[in-house]
Amino acid sequence: MNVIPALIGFSEKNGQWFAEGVSLAQLAKDFGTPLYVYSKEAICSAYRAYDAACIRPNGTRRARIHYAMKANSNLAVLDELKQLGAGFDLVSGGELARALHIGADPKSLVFAGVGKSSLEIEDALRTGVKCINVESIPELHRINTIAKKLGLRAPISLRVNPDVDANTHPYISTGLKDNKFGIAYHEVLKTYREAALLSHIDVVGIDCHIGSQITNASPYLDALDKVLDLITQLQREGILIHHLDLGGGLGIDYGSDAPPNITEFTNLLLNRVEERGYGNLEVLLEPGRSLVGNAGVLLTEVEYLKTGSDKNFCIVNAAMNDLMRPALYEAYHAIVPTQTSNVSPRLYDVVGPVCESGDWLGKDRMLAISEGDVLAILSAGAYGFVMASNYNTRGRAAEVMIDGNQAFLVRERETVSSLYEKERTLNK
Ligand SMILES: *Cc1c(COP(=O)(O)O)cnc(C)c1O
Repeated sequence: MNVIPALIGFSEKNGQWFAEGVSLAQLAKDFGTPLYVYSKEAICSAYRAYDAACIRPNGTRRARIHYAMKANSNLAVLDELKQLGAGFDLVSGGELARALHIGADPKSLVFAGVGKSSLEIEDALRTGVKCINVESIPELHRINTIAKKLGLRAPISLRVNPDVDANTHPYISTGLKDNKFGIAYHEVLKTYREAALLSHIDVVGIDCHIGSQITNASPYLDALDKVLDLITQLQREGILIHHLDLGGGLGIDYGSDAPPNITEFTNLLLNRVEERGYGNLEVLLEPGRSLVGNAGVLLTEVEYLKTGSDKNFCIVNAAMNDLMRPALYEAYHAIVPTQTSNVSPRLYDVVGPVCESGDWLGKDRMLAISEGDVLAILSAGAYGFVMASNYNTRGRAAEVMIDGNQAFLVRERETVSSLYEKERTLNK
């Protein structure tokens, strides 16, 4: 099994869990809980695996990685990836601002999203992003109008909805015809013809993104074939496509998943592109989860052990507002004590203090724990902190990045008073 990269793991010698050279229990003491902990090297090594596979055996670079920053947009994560040469996939004006804040090259940015506002389109055009991935026909016309007003040309790609089943959770499946994403497959050619005639639009690419936490490569190959068929047809009509963006979505192992590894997966896609005679097409990949998911954990402390005749509850100080995936998708995250103990194990539901029955982090977990112990919720590096809220007036957790033996606080814990500082009562 390959649940956790060795960079976050259990040391038999110490009877403790570590992130690189730092004990998780010690981090909880130093920074408090709940606490997100990321391993810099785990993120960087996943990136390097992708990047190495983008360079083909003959030495030519065939693809580029645009990290989907919605998975984890902490500036420290973005900055490390930027230093390794990553571009970014953005889905909002806020993410554009983050990318520019860390000094990303505008030409390394692609901007996706079904509901881009006029202001967001304007910002993207002024910034000079590499490509705007268009998700509907009305959006295409809005981009043309805005580009005209600004006296700029808009580089665009159409997001194809290839109507393939990614076999993932319905909430994270995006490439089926009844999903809100992309342009319906049968309308793509006609929309490209329309785009080619618009005065301020430059057709530069084509893209698709079929879902997330996909553990089987075959839906990707199906989508890829369908998109390559479109490229063939467009070429016949004289509409040239310079890049093919295959989106993200490669799954990670949360405990019992068996996704293809990054190298296998990338090779599979690039081999298919070459087999079909498109060896010169620039390919973009937009991984999010598979770069950061297993590079992070959420530390939480046991507040109470509430035992009962039917069920035992382990009540911890992290909750659905800190890590929403279990409540939102019934997602599984492995949960481990950060230090071994001699107490006898019991079966627990691990739950948070929030006033919702949906506030659970793990069900039916066998754990040898006592009050005050620190637990690590594994595989929490993607869609963890970024989805956190302040529900129940809970400040969001602090985030720490480990580099070797050093821990860097990369986001301070939110103070309670900051949560209502923008509010006013009616009393003058
Ligand atoms: C969310 C998203 C991604 C990344 O998905 P992961 O499953 O995290 O790899 C890539 N591209 C687009 C357009 C997305 O919306």
